[in-house]
Amino acid sequence: MSVTQQQVLESLGKVMSPRGVALSKADVLSAITVNDGKVFFSISVDAAEARAWESVRAEAEAAVRAIPGVTVAMIALTAERKAGAAAPPPHRHSHGVPPVSTHRPPQPPGSGSPMSKQSEIPGIAAVIAVASGKGGVGKSTTALNLALGLRDLGLRVGLLDADIYGPSVPRLTGIHQKPVLNDDKKMVPIVRFGLAIMSIGFLVEEDTAMIWRGPMVMSAITQMLRDVAWGTLDVLVVDMPPGTGDAQLTLAQNVPLKGAIIISTPQDLSLIDARRGLAMFKKVNVPVLGIVENMSYFQCPHCGTKSDIFGHGGARHEAERLGVPFLGEIPLHMSIRATSDSGTPVVESEPDGPHAAIYRAIGAKVRDQLQGVIAAA
Ligand code: ADP
Repeated sequence: MSVTQQQVLESLGKVMSPRGVALSKADVLSAITVNDGKVFFSISVDAAEARAWESVRAEAEAAVRAIPGVTVAMIALTAERKAGAAAPPPHRHSHGVPPVSTHRPPQPPGSGSPMSKQSEIPGIAAVIAVASGKGGVGKSTTALNLALGLRDLGLRVGLLDADIYGPSVPRLTGIHQKPVLNDDKKMVPIVRFGLAIMSIGFLVEEDTAMIWRGPMVMSAITQMLRDVAWGTLDVLVVDMPPGTGDAQLTLAQNVPLKGAIIISTPQDLSLIDARRGLAMFKKVNVPVLGIVENMSYFQCPHCGTKSDIFGHGGARHEAERLGVPFLGEIPLHMSIRATSDSGTPVVESEPDGPHAAIYRAIGAKVRDQLQGVIAAA
């Protein structure tokens, strides 16, 4: 039985809004997307009213989930501050989706970490971001292999594919099943290669063009972070959307990150992008755990000869110049690409090979920096 928009609207007709009319008539709904039993939409209100709407969002979600045939309901509460209006008081969220301000200015360093205002995710010792200044530098490939490297060091590891514009984790892991909901209505991550994995790509088809408005990005990611039964993890690796725009900045501000790793290729252009990434995390007081140079040098799959086709070493120098750790160099190698594209990443498929060793070494440097946090948890 396929779910229709009309059914969704009817269910929302039974949810009362703080405006005294049914939610379906309150003039706050975005377009409703219904795709194969999965329902997505946002409720957009003024930031000053946001708190009053939090319970409405939860009620709306429950109402939509109760429609027969609905498998996933993702409803974002987005809060836009009117020009000149005062900021709503900060408050903690123990559950649900925090309202997202599209106009929150970045906090200057030293003004108190915005991280401290966020609730930690129960059971997860450290959430870390893997980011890049632009797409196509191998961020997702590195995030997954790094997660496996951390696993090999004996840590309990999860991977959240927050690259909602182009989720590639389903392809990289070969996961094609959908997560189920547990009794608490939380999504159960898919466990593959010993990692707890969640991706927006599990919920929508990979080739479905997804157009996310800025605030929806954050809400969708917050739900994937908080409405998922992650269990107990030492590290949750978040594969960020590429780039350093508003969506990424908001994410860096709102996810309780213990650190960030920047992936860059050696080319100058990519390094400029990486510098922007560094600046972004500095702005929101998230420690940069280091830079990884991916596709650092070309390694011939036949003879093993190394060639520095991209002028290898740029990221190392850049890291030294900026005073952040340099975590390692990953060669451009056929087997990294082939294993990724076939759904069994190289650390899993060639655990004794040279590439797995490189990812594990990077993992060890990351673990060492997080040791205190993990031990404390
Ligand atoms: P991003 O997440 O930055 O967009 P991906 O991880 O999807 O990048 O990688 C882009 C492409 O480059 C993929 O086909 C991937 O297999 C390939 N790739 C990534 N890193 C390497 C590497 N070190 N050697 C060879 N191919 C790589």
